[in-house]
Amino acid sequence: SDVALHLLVSDVVRRFAAQVGERIEFEIRVPDDLPPVYADYERMRQVLTNLIENAVKYSPNGGVIRIGARAEGDMAIVYVSDQGIGIPPEEQDLIFERFYRVDTRLRRDQPGSGLGLFITRAIVEAHGGRIWVESQVGRGSRFFFTIPLSRRQLPGE
Ligand code: ATP
Ligand code: MG
Repeated sequence: SDVALHLLVSDVVRRFAAQVGERIEFEIRVPDDLPPVYADYERMRQVLTNLIENAVKYSPNGGVIRIGARAEGDMAIVYVSDQGIGIPPEEQDLIFERFYRVDTRLRRDQPGSGLGLFITRAIVEAHGGRIWVESQVGRGSRFFFTIPLSRRQLPGE
């Protein structure tokens, strides 16, 4: 069905903001005139929740988490960026695999099963999108995913 990303993102962010209080600052960069995406609402909520949950988990106090989106061709590109601990280049593909967690003392302090990104990728790919990350250790991470825009919104149809 049609999902208005700016509404979904503000709803998910509102929940996290209430949970983390002043520890993290959220910035939303989703234009409210972005065409709707063609997706399952609850699954899109899960994708955003998983990515934002990770951003919160792996960010220091005072970090800024930004969620943005733009249209490109017949897809929306959505990102979740953080100023957290980052992911080493050789692990940036592995983190999407089932049960994979980056193995450092720092991260072991954070509970988790290593399933979040595996599920997230499965949902994104089931919608015909893809997911990837750009990250620098010690500086932060930016997760991107694409999701088809609702076809009814394409010009000429
Ligand atoms: P859960 O199943 O509860 O989500 P998890 O968060 O450990 O557990 P994933 O969400 O699949 O598992 O993430 C896999 C691993 O990727 C994490 O354990 C962490 O090492 C790394 N990671 C994911 N997101 C980030 C991020 N934003 N910054 C730094 N490392 C991250
Ligand atoms: Mg996770």
